[in-house]
This record gives sequence, structure tokens and C-alpha cells, in this order.
Amino acid sequence: MMLDIKSLDRKELEDWIQKKGFEPYRARQIWHWILKKTVASFDQMTDLPKSLRKIMNEEVDLSPLELVKLLESKEDETRKYLFRLRDGNFIESVLIPELEKGYFTICISSQAGCMMGCKFCFTARQGFKRNLKTSEIIDQVVQVKRSMSEPSKLRNIVFMGMGEPLLNYDNLIKAIRIFIDPYGMNFSHRRVTVSTCGLVPYIRRLGEEDVRVNLAVSLNAADDEKRSLLMPINRRYPLKELMAACKRFPLANGRRITFEYVLIDGINDSIEDAKRLVELIRGIRAKINLIPLNPSPGIEFSPPPWNKILAFQKVLIESNLTAIIRKSRGRDIMAACGQLSGRYGKDKAKIKEIG
Ligand code: SF4
Repeated sequence: MMLDIKSLDRKELEDWIQKKGFEPYRARQIWHWILKKTVASFDQMTDLPKSLRKIMNEEVDLSPLELVKLLESKEDETRKYLFRLRDGNFIESVLIPELEKGYFTICISSQAGCMMGCKFCFTARQGFKRNLKTSEIIDQVVQVKRSMSEPSKLRNIVFMGMGEPLLNYDNLIKAIRIFIDPYGMNFSHRRVTVSTCGLVPYIRRLGEEDVRVNLAVSLNAADDEKRSLLMPINRRYPLKELMAACKRFPLANGRRITFEYVLIDGINDSIEDAKRLVELIRGIRAKINLIPLNPSPGIEFSPPPWNKILAFQKVLIESNLTAIIRKSRGRDIMAACGQLSGRYGKDKAKIKEIG
């Protein structure tokens, strides 16, 4: 079996290098080539001995993901990447330009499919396939970075793609450590955000880690009845427990919890809903992202009209909360989570047509 190199942390790579008869510092060189220079072949690692490159060519799997489709939005330069895993499953990553600020955020997947069953989510309709390996998480960032004309502008990593990251906990934490390791990808921990649908025990566990990342919670309703309707996980961990875990979550200095709130016409978008939301998050250092639902095939809901969205936001702002309307990016390229892989996953024959 080939060595899955992007699943190794620095120490594990050093151990492997030493077993092969080379000095441990070679591991740092290899990481530099893989994670900083984002090279696609061992032959590009020109400062390594030829004998080591030969071993790696024979024994090491450099890239577990195959890029099968890259779509760029004509509207806003959002890019969507469709990757095929070795077992034939598909995952997606999205590169999002922060237009005013001039840098980029990458939204990555943590699982192929998802088992959480949120009613407004297209990924949920595809069911759960499996957890991603650490290498499959890392390789999304490596390959997307490689495709950028100015890779240094990739500033933020958000785990908001396919899957519930906290259900793939060990691989998630290992990937985060590689992202923030100065010898690895060297991202600031303040620039990494993990989004969850509300798995309370794992939120607590994440808070106890020595790596401090940002937390985003997909909230979508401010009362248990509505939230349980939209998100089955709420029956297991109702809002009282979720909010208590959020209050206790240790934030880095100056950071806030992000509450994601997908606005759905006639379901969770009334003035009363907004007022309940104000009460719910009182006392938590938070900001709210209001996301008008991105319509997807087979999803019965639709986004509210613009005037209702603005009225909802006004209630929050007048209560001194930070509430930003996040317009759907890249609608023309199916940038809503799961849409692209859903389409190709169902009709695998199509992949053959793609260059
Ligand atoms: S919204 Fe997130 S947690 Fe819910 S089903 Fe979709 S991918 Fe899973």
C-alpha cells in the first residue's frame, strides 16, 4: 500500500524519513514543497536527493484527490472545484473572493455526503458516504491554492462544505494542526473556522483543544419547534444546551462566534423570529450571517423576498447585533453546498466527458 503522505503530521513524516535512512530535516523540506509550494510531483522537489525522490515516486501517494471540474462564476469570480476521491465519491470545495478586502476564503468539505439531514440542504439529500481522510481535507486546500494566480491571497479556511466536521473529529483536528503549523501551511489559527450544526459534546471538546479556532454554528431558527423541523439534530441537542455550550466556548481575543441563519420564506423569516433570535443570543459574543436560501432542485423551500430579508436584519441591527447579509455566491455555478457533486454523483458517466 502506498504511503498517504498528506495524512501524516510532521513527526510521523520525520519517523518515516528516518526509517528510510535519511535525516529528519528532510521531512521539513518535503512539507515545504507539498504544503507551501503546492507541487504536484516529487520530481519538482529539486533539493532532495535523487534516491529519496525515487523512493517516494515508488512508495508514496502524493495526491488523493483528482480535480474533475473547475467552474468559475461570471457574476463574482467564485470558483467551485469538484474532486473525485479514490473510491469514486465526489466532494466539493469553493474559493470565495472577499471582494472589498482583496483576499480569498476557501470553503472545504469534511465528509463525502452528510448524515445530519438538514431539510434545506442539498448535501443532506445525497446521504452519508464516509469521513474524509486528513489527506483529503489537506489536498483540497493544496490544489485550490495551486490553481490561484496569487496563492498568498488565500487567507481563510472555513469548514462549511459537505459534511459535519465535528463528526470527523480526529481527522479534522489533525488537518487543522497541519494548516496552522509554521512548517506546514502556516495559516493563522484565527483564520480557521469550524462550522457545526450543533453537536454539543463536540463543541465542548473543540473548546478544550490547545488549538483555538473560530466556531460557527448553523442556527437557522430561534425556537426548538422550528429548529427541530429544519434540523433533526435539534431534537438531540435543543437550543438551551447548544447556547450553553456556545457561551462556554473559549474564543481567541477579539473573536466572536458566527451564527449562520439561512432565511427561508414563510418558515423562519418573520419579525417575531428575528426578535426571538435577539433574545437567544443575548450575552454571547457573536455575529450573525443571514443567508437567503440558495434554491436547489428537490428542496421545497424558497428564499424570502428582499424586503423581508432587510426587515429581519433591521431588527437585529437595532438590537446592537452585527448582522451581515451574505448573498449567495456563484449561483450560476451551483455553488450551494452539494449541488455539483450531487449532479455528477448521480450521473457518473458524465465525468468521462470532462477534461
Ligand atoms: S447543512 Fe451541513 S450539517 Fe446540515 S445536512 Fe447539510 S452539510 Fe450536513
